[in-house]
Parts: sequence; C-alpha cells; structure tokens
Amino acid sequence: MDNPEVGTEKEKSLNFIEHIVKQDLETGKYQGNVHTRFPPEPNGYLHIGHAKSICLNFGIAEDYNGITNLRFDDTNPSAEEVEYVNAIREDVKWLGYDWEDREYFSSNYFDQLYGFAVDLIKLGKAFVCDLTQEEIAQRRGTPTQPGEESPYRNRSVEENLALFEGMKNGDFEEGTKVLRAKIDMSSPNMHLRDPAVYRIKKVPHHRTGTTWSIYPMYDYAHCMSDSIEKITHSLCTLEFEVHRPLYDWFLDALDLYHPHQIEFARLNLTNTVMSKRKLLELVQENLVSGWDDPRLPTISGLRRRGYTPESIRNFADRIGVAKRDGIIDMQLLEFSIREDLNKTAPRAMVVLDPIKVVITNLPEGYQEDLQAINIPGNEEAGKRVVPFSREIYIERDDFMEDPPKKYFRLAPGGVVRLKYAYIIQCNEVIKDDKGEILEIRCEYFPESKSGEDTSGIKVKGTIHWVSTDSAIEAELRMYDRLFTVEDPIAEAGEDGDWKSFINPDSLVRSTKAKLEPSLISAQAGNRFQFERKGYFCLDQDSKEGSLVFNQTVALRDSWAKQQKK
Ligand code: ATP
Ligand code: MG
Repeated sequence: MDNPEVGTEKEKSLNFIEHIVKQDLETGKYQGNVHTRFPPEPNGYLHIGHAKSICLNFGIAEDYNGITNLRFDDTNPSAEEVEYVNAIREDVKWLGYDWEDREYFSSNYFDQLYGFAVDLIKLGKAFVCDLTQEEIAQRRGTPTQPGEESPYRNRSVEENLALFEGMKNGDFEEGTKVLRAKIDMSSPNMHLRDPAVYRIKKVPHHRTGTTWSIYPMYDYAHCMSDSIEKITHSLCTLEFEVHRPLYDWFLDALDLYHPHQIEFARLNLTNTVMSKRKLLELVQENLVSGWDDPRLPTISGLRRRGYTPESIRNFADRIGVAKRDGIIDMQLLEFSIREDLNKTAPRAMVVLDPIKVVITNLPEGYQEDLQAINIPGNEEAGKRVVPFSREIYIERDDFMEDPPKKYFRLAPGGVVRLKYAYIIQCNEVIKDDKGEILEIRCEYFPESKSGEDTSGIKVKGTIHWVSTDSAIEAELRMYDRLFTVEDPIAEAGEDGDWKSFINPDSLVRSTKAKLEPSLISAQAGNRFQFERKGYFCLDQDSKEGSLVFNQTVALRDSWAKQQKK
C-alpha cells in the first residue's frame, strides 16, 4: 500500500507534471500559456478519484497563471444524462474551482470532428470498413503477431467520402460500417492497428438529439477536442499511456495544434470501489441510498458525510501524483478531514449511549447555565451556554462498577470532572432486578466549578454529559467501511461477486443519543465535533423536531499515531 508521509506543508519540490509545465514555460513551447481541462464523461457522479484530477488540472493552472476548461466528454450518447452534467458542475464548484465561461461539450464539436474525419479521408488516412466488429477483432492480431489488413482498406477517396456521408445520413445499419484510420496493421502498439474513428449509432444524444447517426470514438474525439480548445497539457490517467501514439498520430496526420498528453496514476482507495460503472450498480441495486450516500467515495457522498472541500484538496495534495498505480489507505482521507475539522468544527456535548446520573445534593428543578468553549484555541469562535441540572446523562462506558487500575472515569466511590461543570463523586448504583444499571447517584462539590475550582480535589478524568431536562434527541447514522476487504474487485477476481464483500454494518442508525440543546439550531451541512466521540454533520434529511446527524469520522486518529511510531 502506498502511504505517503503525512505533512501539513505543501511539498516544496515539484511533481513530474509541474516539472514539465515549468520547462515548457521556460522554453516557450506554448507561448507561455498553461491551459488544462477537466474532461468528465457525464455518465455518473464524480468520485474522489476525479477530485484528484480536478485538483491537479485546476491546481496547475492556478500555480502557473493558466486557465482550466470544464469539458463534458459526451461523445457516447447511450449513457449520458443531464442529471450528471448538473451534479458534475455542482461538485467542481463545491471543491472551490471556477472554469468561468469555459464550459464545453465534446458534442459541440461534432461538426468540426466530422470535418476533420473528411480531411483524413481526403489525405488517404482513413477508410470506411465493412467488416463487422467481430471480423475486425479477429484480424487484429496479437501484440507479437501482426494483424491482417482489411479488404476495404484501399477504397478510393471518392468511395470513402460517399460511404462516410452515407453513414452520417443514416443510410446504413449499426455495425455494418465503421470509419477507420489507416495506420499500420503490424504496429506493436495494438491501438495503431487501423483503429475505429467513427461508428454508426442510431441513438439520440442528450444535446444533439437525432442529428447524428454516427459518433466519434474516444481516442479521436479526445485529442481533437483538446486541440480545438488549445489545451497545452492534457493530463490523463495511466491507462491512456498506450493510447498516446494514437493521440499524437491524429493531430500530426491533420497537422493540427498539438497539446501534450501526460499520464499520471489513478487514485484507488482501500475498502471501496471507484469506477462509475461499479458505483452505478450500487445505486441502481439500492445497495446504497443514492449517489450521495455518505458511504460512497463520490464527492456528493463525501460532502453529505461532512467532508469539507479543503480537506479533499489537502488530501489530493498529500497523495501527489505518481507514475505508478497504487492504493491509498482510506485513513489518509480521514486524517485530512480530522485535521480540518479539529480547527473549524464547533464542539458540542452529545451522549451516544446514555446512562442517568442523579446529583443528590442539588435541589429538584435546579438549573444553572454554564459556559462552554466552541473551538479550543479559537477565541473568535466564542462560547455557548450549556444548561446543568440535577439529572444528567453520561456515557455508559464512562462508568465502571469494577474498574481496572488506571481507569480514570467514574466508578463507585470515585470522582470525575464533568466538562465545563463540577466534580462529582459516585455514591450509589441503582439497578433493576436483572442487574442492569438504572441510574447512578452522585454528589457534586460546589467549590469545584470549572475555571474557579477551589475544592482541592484531584481528578484524573473529565467526561462529557448532557442535562436530562434540556437534552434533545436525534438519529445518528454511524458509518463504517463500505467493503470488508481492502480491494473488493481484486478479491472477487474476474467476474467475481465483489458486492458480496459489502459490509453489512457499514451503516448503523442509533436513536439513543442525547444531545445538548444548542444543537437544535444546527442547519443541514453544519459540522460539529461531538466531544470525545467524533465529527458529525447535520444531514439534509433532518426536519424540525427530528434531526439526523451523519458521523463524518471518529475522533481517534490512528493514522497520525501510526505515522509517529
Ligand atoms: P471511471 O472509471 O471512474 O468511470 P473515468 O476515467 O471513466 O473514470 P471520466 O469521466 O472519463 O471517468 O474521467 C474524467 C477525468 O478524471 C479523466 O481525466 C480521468 O483520467 C480522471 N479520473 C477518473 N478516475 C480517476 C481516478 N481514480 N484517479 C485520478 N483521476 C481519475
Ligand atoms: Mg470513462
């Protein structure tokens, strides 16, 4: 597993892509321009892998005084939907990036792309092939054996032009003809063995409707779109490295403006799946609640979970860019959100698994407003009032009847400090006939008030609490890894059932919790640290009187500890 060093400072040394960009600026290769693009296919919601690509493309442009386009790569009419286009816009914006007026669709270039294909034909560099897909595959050869040339390869330019126009006009059935580049059937690079440029597809497109019966192939459309937009550095993931000769071939064949394709390693994360196709399966089969299910690695899921844009950008920065594929531990992502929320999330006291404590030396109906700090170390964040009363809830596991040594919380005869309040001592434990604890009876020490303690009593533990009178209730959605294994796809093997590794306990809903009353005014999307427990974010499902909080991440930072060892 790749576990990059945890560091808060941005790496001063440049990554390999930044090196190339810097060098190109120095040599004036692109007249001092840096122009990148983020080219999602609108066939699903964006995930954290896309976030890496977004941060990289927009980040490099920002660092080198350049600009970035958002381009919807919508050349495949079957899978693309308007819902996805809108979600992608929202996610990129939310991450903090602005493409200004440079929003493009590959489908906007269909006329130009068609024209370029006609040019290829005229140059004798493309031909219409009547072989079926299977026949083409059969003749492709292997990496060590040359392929066989198509019998249609030497059609005249005129014939090719007429047939291609016929394809465009819908004269032929799907699969009966394809426009292919005329390159080299014996190239060791299979992608250069007369690859398809246009195929017939009689499917309406979400933007161009039924105008087109033919659609360009990705390898062709992508480099042409990059060229049309005058992209300087076309960043893509490693699997396109073997496609680069074809990218270059198309542009050179037509003598067009030529961006530089640079490949970097795709982000993989432990205990999840990343491909849109797999995520779509989870959504369609209702194995999750939707694309924004907080367990998914989608940007919308992470947002709903309580992740901040800053934490995702810091994460992307930390993992950097590599030329080798690897898998990043989810804990590094969690480290990034903890680091951010520790500084920014207001604290609140919430008892997840309550047990009642009665403070016997306080009168019935006693009420005292105590002051609690919202964010330690941040004066500006101010204080809030937490009401204290005769009966309070504490966490069940903050009490032990028969504690081991070094247990510093509450135990019979023992003392503990209630955060922002007083020291209490446990005098009695009341149980039902089954031996279950019903309540704990304590006394408090009036001179031990937090901040003005003159009691002289020494305590080793401080616990959180919520007054029973003013406590509010909420549903807490507690999350765990979506998959029980690090790499479900690899674990399942080819055609294996990767969904069998879904963690049945990845979502546990709890309605037991007691929350301090200040949380009543929380708004959807607000993030908090529930003291000693973790970070939580108010969910959009919340309604007045029935709040729902998503657990963003637990407090314990095993990742940071692991790094210190
Ligand atoms: P998926 O396999 O998840 O569907 P994709 O590569 O097909 O991903 P696109 O919409 O084509 O998705 O990707 C848009 C951009 O995001 C591309 O430049 C692609 O290289 C990049 N990208 C996609 N997945 C990752 C990833 N896991 N890590 C880094 N970049 C990624
Ligand atoms: Mg894709």
